[in-house]
Order: sequence, then structure tokens, then C-alpha cells
Amino acid sequence: MPPERRVGFAVMGLGRLALEEILPAFAECKAARPVALVSGSPEKARAVAAQHGIAADSVYGYDEVARLSENPAVQAVYVVTPNGRHRDNVLAVAKAGKHVLCEKPMANTSAEAREMVEACRAAGVKLMIAYRCQYEPFNREAVRLVRSGELGRPRVLEATNTQVQGPADQWRLKAALAGGGALPDIGLYCLNGVRAVLGEEPVEVFARIVNPQGDDRYAEIDETTVFMLRFPSGAIANCAASYGAHESKDLRIRLEKGWIDLENAFAYRGQRMRIARRKGDDEAVEELRLGAKNQFALEIDHFADCILQDHEPRTPGEEGVQDQVLMEAIYRSAREGTPVAI
Ligand code: NDP
Repeated sequence: MPPERRVGFAVMGLGRLALEEILPAFAECKAARPVALVSGSPEKARAVAAQHGIAADSVYGYDEVARLSENPAVQAVYVVTPNGRHRDNVLAVAKAGKHVLCEKPMANTSAEAREMVEACRAAGVKLMIAYRCQYEPFNREAVRLVRSGELGRPRVLEATNTQVQGPADQWRLKAALAGGGALPDIGLYCLNGVRAVLGEEPVEVFARIVNPQGDDRYAEIDETTVFMLRFPSGAIANCAASYGAHESKDLRIRLEKGWIDLENAFAYRGQRMRIARRKGDDEAVEELRLGAKNQFALEIDHFADCILQDHEPRTPGEEGVQDQVLMEAIYRSAREGTPVAI
């Protein structure tokens, strides 16, 4: 698509994800281009604008978001700020009349998330939550294969997302800005991933949190959260998120007539998928090969296409609300030590 017909995005919050993944991903987009920045660091923003061919007068501060309404080149804003800022940021963008792509987790609470959905509806703008794995080809194939029924009914799923957390002086360890710890940051991929694969909603959750003793980093948030989800079909998902264990981001699905192992399911790259199919008393194992694609570019292009063609995104605000509701139930279960019905 020629540049002038592509959807113009403002990127809000120039931190690690925006600088290392999102802005570079625009180079691989077919329907989107970066045209503005919103940042609290004007000097950094000017340098980033120059690097990405964004006009110097299209750099805004957080208190200038209303002025986006005067810039017709901006059709959408990608919110990439800390979780606890998403609600205010999304409300401001909606008020400026721009479509919003908001990073995960959507917000700190389900009440905030509902407010965001309502604000975007009232403003007549689209809201999508950036669940990048739902745009990643191997994850898509896992969803397709499970839902096709070819391997029978799914019975047991295992989703793990672990990565060792850094030092204490960062927003991810502060409840007000992060909304929680390992659960909303990385466990959310397990939660959203198993819901996507099964295409149904859990009816019960059961969770445990384990925090290391005497580690100040986990005074406010969870280090390790393990949770079980029971689905109406009878499928069970065991999920684990931890800031204490070496990186692993895998999804394993056990079905009546086979299994699917998706290594690095929740990573930026490096997915590897093996599929086993029962053959009589034996099984045939196949490794699936798919071309490498940038999942951030696929996700951004999906939202751009939704704007151009007036479609509802695959992962709308309501999808984020549901995950917030479930995360609240997971925390409640861990607190009370009992299963919680949804
Ligand atoms: P960073 O801390 O690296 O960057 C956040 C940026 O937000 C800052 O650089 C700053 O940019 C801006 N900001 C605005 N208000 C604040 C504040 N009060 N404190 C700190 N920064 C602030 O975070 P990440 O880039 O890692 O994460 C940003 C969002 O993206 C989070 O919601 C996170 O969950 C999500 N994320 C998603 C991933 C994915 O794979 N989809 C992976 C990593 C993160 P500026 O100086 O320009 O204002």
C-alpha cells in the first residue's frame, strides 16, 4: 500500500518495547506507518523522531494529547506506557478522537478496563489490546488445529512464561504502575493463550502465589503465580508465571488423538512447533515449518486494516476486560486458598 494511504500511528511512551520492537516493526508493516510520538522526554523523542522520519512538529507531551485532534495524519495511537498509565492515556486518546491500540495488560483493574471500553465506544473510536501472540502464525496454527477437531478434544494444557526479573528500581515492581507482578506482565500470555486455543471461557480458577522471603522486590507484587483454569468442555489448563526462573515460554496441548508442543510460544521469535498424531498403537510426529514473520508488524497491520475497512479487531477491548476479570479471580483464589467460580 502506498505510504499516503497507510494508517498513521502515533507511538506513546518511548521505552524499551517501543524503541526495540514496535518502531522497528513499522518497517515491515504494509498498512501502517509511524507519523507522531507522545513522550514525557522531549529530547529523546526528538532524536527518535529524526531516526524514524517523523516530523519534529509531530512530537507531543502527555499533557498535549488533546492537540492530536488537530493532526489529521494521526489516525491511531499505540499506547506503550506502564500498565497503570493505560487507563488515563486511553481515555485522553479517545477524547482526541483517535483509534487506540493499547499494550497488555489492558489496565490495573477490570473496572478501569470497562471504563476504557466505554470511553472508546462513546467517542466512536476502535480499541484493540495488543495481544501479539494472537497474530503470530504458529499460535494461529495451534488455534486452528485444536478448533478443527482433527486431534480430538483438548483435555490438558500447560502454559509457562518465566523470565528472571531485574533490579528493584523499576515500575514493574510497583503495584500502582504495574497492577501486579508476574501474573499481569507475563502470566497473561498463558491466560490469553489458552483461552484463544480453546475458544471457551473458564468456569473456575485455582491459584497459588509463592514469593521469596526477604526479597524487597516482591514487597508489593507477585514473583511466582501458578494457576489452574477449568473449562466447561472439561479441559484443564495449568499455567505458571515466574520472575524467578530462567526464561521459558512454552505452550503444550494434550488432546484425545495427539499433542501439540509450541516452544517459545510467547516469545518475540524462535517459535518451534511439533505435532503428534495417533496412528493405531503408534504416533507420527511432525515438525511444522512456517516462514518467519514479525508478529508486531502483523498485529499493527491488523489494527490498520480494521480501521481502513471498519472491522472489529480480533482482540478488542472486551477481550482485555475478560482477562482482567480472570486475573482478579486468580488473585482472589491465591489470597483465599480456595477455588473461585467465575
Ligand atoms: P519501559 O519502562 O521500558 O518504558 C515505558 C515508557 O513509558 C517510558 O520509557 C516512558 O516513555 C513512558 N512512561 C510514561 N509514564 C511513565 C512512568 N510513570 N514511569 C515510567 N515510564 C513512563 O516499559 P516497556 O516498554 O517494557 O513496557 C511498556 C508497556 O508495554 C507495558 O504495558 C508492558 O506491559 C508492555 N509490554 C508488552 C510487551 C509485549 O510483548 N507485547 C513486552 C514488553 C512490554 P517516555 O520517556 O517516552 O515518556
